[in-house]
Amino acid sequence: MKITIHRGANQIGGTCIEIAANNGKKIMIDIGMPLAEDFIEPSQEFMPEIEYAGLEALLISHPHGDHYMLAGFLEKKIPIYIGRGAAAIIEAANSYTPNKVKLGDTIPIENKKPFTIADTFRITPFLTDHSAYDSYMFLIEADGKSVFYTGDFRCHGRKAKLVKAMMKDPPKNIDVMLMEGTNIYPLKSETTEIDDNMEMTEVSSQKSFVSEAALEKEFQNEFENTKGLAVVQSSCQNMDRLVTIYRAAKRAKRELVLPWQVGYIVMQIGNKNLPNFRNFKDVKKFTSTPERPHEIGLETIKKNPEKYVVFLTYPITRALLTGRLFNKDAVYIWSLWNGYKKQEKTAQVIAEIAATNTKIAKDIHASGHADRATIIEFVAQLNPKRLVPVHTAFPEAFKSLEWKKGFTGQVEVHADNEWFEV
Ligand SMILES: [Zn+2]
Repeated sequence: MKITIHRGANQIGGTCIEIAANNGKKIMIDIGMPLAEDFIEPSQEFMPEIEYAGLEALLISHPHGDHYMLAGFLEKKIPIYIGRGAAAIIEAANSYTPNKVKLGDTIPIENKKPFTIADTFRITPFLTDHSAYDSYMFLIEADGKSVFYTGDFRCHGRKAKLVKAMMKDPPKNIDVMLMEGTNIYPLKSETTEIDDNMEMTEVSSQKSFVSEAALEKEFQNEFENTKGLAVVQSSCQNMDRLVTIYRAAKRAKRELVLPWQVGYIVMQIGNKNLPNFRNFKDVKKFTSTPERPHEIGLETIKKNPEKYVVFLTYPITRALLTGRLFNKDAVYIWSLWNGYKKQEKTAQVIAEIAATNTKIAKDIHASGHADRATIIEFVAQLNPKRLVPVHTAFPEAFKSLEWKKGFTGQVEVHADNEWFEV
């Protein structure tokens, strides 16, 4: 078996990895768009150079654009393996985002249910903890060897126990682990050049991250200490965070007002435990037309703004600005990666909100990715023979991590598009 990282050997996002067996059969894992501060349209020019002969399948680890967004540009129709919920999110997002990705029929993968591709690769997916719903790690076995791909993961979200369980009872004899290192960067003493815009600098001296459960308390405090309306800027697709915001609102005795997009995604996922305005009494759908059951509009919110938490989209923000619901009694909470604040349109909107004397609260956010301590622990427990960093801006920094003695393997750095033997 051999591997090439088409993209992601030394950058965060845009992940695309190919694995070839000795018989010439190949699989691709993830096919994402590179991340950029400002929106760039997915296009053919970002496609890696792919030899289609022998390519039998695409596995998508999770529904984030930096892992699936280029799937529509594959020339050959190949089967796509992805979680059912993940596929539903991508399909639902097509209804409100400019970059539509038609996956077509996909083959659903399930936690710990192994399957075989082309009588060659045995794949075992492991459901994991990440800011994207329905995210997986993959164990790939062929030619008597095994490769483990971590995908994007963390151990401080609402599915942390899945990662902890894996560390307790890990897959054995891993030859190569492809490990994400979003939050791995040289310690300050080791480097002079860290890009200010990168996610890792916001946590530069932190060794472990706050959990979603801890964020819940922070949201609750902010909601309780606000006289008027509370609004939150978050991602429509981050289900962990949605649950956090809902639970905090409930504790603060406020109803949660959601945009239709969030309700639509939850409906498509089909998990009735996720907050939505169909079967949760204390969740409403924001409307700008006359209210129907489960809906709420500006006029009702205006009467008792202290009773609500509004989940923002751009049109809802505009409606609240026009309705003067942003004022000195209100609070605005940012619950996303802080790099997005630099996008021109976002920066303008925040300035507009601040000009109404609305309190701009301290960000309430936790990274979707494992912290340094988790990475070290994970590697010690799974103990791969060779560790190859991916999804990191600083692959070389892996070499000087404070590895625990459980890890007896080697860190190996490979460049994009370089084939290496397993
Ligand atoms: Zn990613």
